[in-house]
Amino acid sequence: MASGKIPYKLILDESEIPSAYYNVRADMKTDHRPILNPATMQPVSAADLSPVFCDELVAQELNDRDRFIEIPGSVREIYKMFRPSPLMRAYRLEKELNTPAKIYYKYEGGNTSGSHKLNSAVAQAYYAKKQGLKGVTTETGAGQWGTALAMACSYFGLDCRVFMVKVSAEQKPYRKAVMETFGAAVTPSPSSTTRIGKKILQETPDTTGSLGCAISEAVEAAVTTEGYRYVLGSVLNQVLIHQSVIGLEAAAALAKYDEYPDIVIGCAGGGSNLGGLMAPFMGDRLAGKRAPYFIAVEPASCPSLTRGVFAYDFCDTGRITPLAKMYTLGATFIPSANHAGGLRYHGMSPILSQLYHDGYLDEARAVPQKAVFDAATLFCRTEGTLPAPESAHAICVAIDEALKCRESGESKTILFGLTGTGYFDMRAYMSYNDGSMSDQIPSDEELAAGLSALPQIPEALR
Ligand SMILES: *Cc1c(COP(=O)(O)O)cnc(C)c1O
Repeated sequence: MASGKIPYKLILDESEIPSAYYNVRADMKTDHRPILNPATMQPVSAADLSPVFCDELVAQELNDRDRFIEIPGSVREIYKMFRPSPLMRAYRLEKELNTPAKIYYKYEGGNTSGSHKLNSAVAQAYYAKKQGLKGVTTETGAGQWGTALAMACSYFGLDCRVFMVKVSAEQKPYRKAVMETFGAAVTPSPSSTTRIGKKILQETPDTTGSLGCAISEAVEAAVTTEGYRYVLGSVLNQVLIHQSVIGLEAAAALAKYDEYPDIVIGCAGGGSNLGGLMAPFMGDRLAGKRAPYFIAVEPASCPSLTRGVFAYDFCDTGRITPLAKMYTLGATFIPSANHAGGLRYHGMSPILSQLYHDGYLDEARAVPQKAVFDAATLFCRTEGTLPAPESAHAICVAIDEALKCRESGESKTILFGLTGTGYFDMRAYMSYNDGSMSDQIPSDEELAAGLSALPQIPEALR
């Protein structure tokens, strides 16, 4: 099909929502190292995880065999309310950049929660309800995950308790209000409602909080409340499995127009949207077929892939979770209060980490905040969608790649993930617009401090 015929929106219909998630782990050449119980240094078993997570989600977390996992009918029904999400051709951005590149983006911000996180929230709430649980606890950084979970819990009639990173709760009071409107209880973290929160407040009373710290509180609240489990919106294998719907839909829509990406770009906080967007294409790579060049984009203020180490670490600041082998800045690293709250996490999905370590995820790039907002603004003015600051990291690199094509004259096909809307991030845009935004990049000394606190792991297990 001639490129001129490709519409702005590459539409799929409801019946084309995938009927199964894709589990890339089944195809990986080297599986990621097992998650360890920090008390025994043994791989965690389903029995270790079941006091914390729902049973079905534990099974998915440990599933390294099934390539496809059926999407339950009730989950697909709810997906129909906001999926398939649009795959857009960025014609106006291409024109503005005067590039021969073709730029596509998969827009996940069209639902009320405003991001891709609803894809996993709906699945997780469904499995919790199916197990007969009363409620779930979680943490939220920027607020997108908490909002998505609050929505999903309201669909299935589950209680929802959200620990929200303090700086985000202060910067984004409207996010909190949306969660409360959907019936969730929201607590700024660190809080004095948990033992670990009290301890963190005692040690660092002025802390602005972090995702790692909110995770500690949410896990503690789940295991100490009858009928509750903890759910997590990123990093875990199960979340990458759910987010594969993004990539499966994108691949199907592109295939209708005989298109296939040369470059796939996603922002990476805990790695779930990128893991999901690239999943089917990574499947191609692992099968030895034609595959794109994959780029993960992270903030220069929290550069786990580009400046972290590949090591076992805790998933939370309070050091109560199991240990995962991943790229990490150290669980005690608290990034500066930059505006991409959803990317302020010290670690990276073990699946993505392993793929990066083995060279299948080709490249990670760290970008500073002001360049990200330059890109966000250009995108907003050309494409008309106001992006979340997290998503704008991917836009920034997509623009750079498109400009390289202008230099070289190559007409590459670029696909990036536009993970969310920026409507709840107007403070960030205000600080960019009035010139008060700064770039905060951690020094080598600051990073060394975080890394010096990594847990000691017996040689044989590393
Ligand atoms: C949470 C979030 C991210 C980062 O999380 P990943 O797990 O890396 O995808 C990116 N964009 C938006 C809009 C988010 O809400």
